[in-house]
Amino acid sequence: MECWFCGKPARGICVFCGRAVCKDHARRMPHPLAMFLGKGQVPKMVVVADALFCGECRPQPEPIEMPEIY
Ligand SMILES: [Zn+2]
Ligand SMILES: [Zn+2]
Repeated sequence: MECWFCGKPARGICVFCGRAVCKDHARRMPHPLAMFLGKGQVPKMVVVADALFCGECRPQPEPIEMPEIY
């Protein structure tokens, strides 16, 4: 699989549209919740919803009409 944008080897797939993207073109949506110090004073971050996003598609909140394919 190659990147949708530049043709380099893809590193992941957009969760919204399925496009394959390389590391350079991948976008993510991290939601850092909290930072804390773990063992040995190592900073750790609690993160949720780190979804891979291609940055190109527009996830729609509702289905759209497509009469032309009917
Ligand atoms: Zn790329
Ligand atoms: Zn996408």
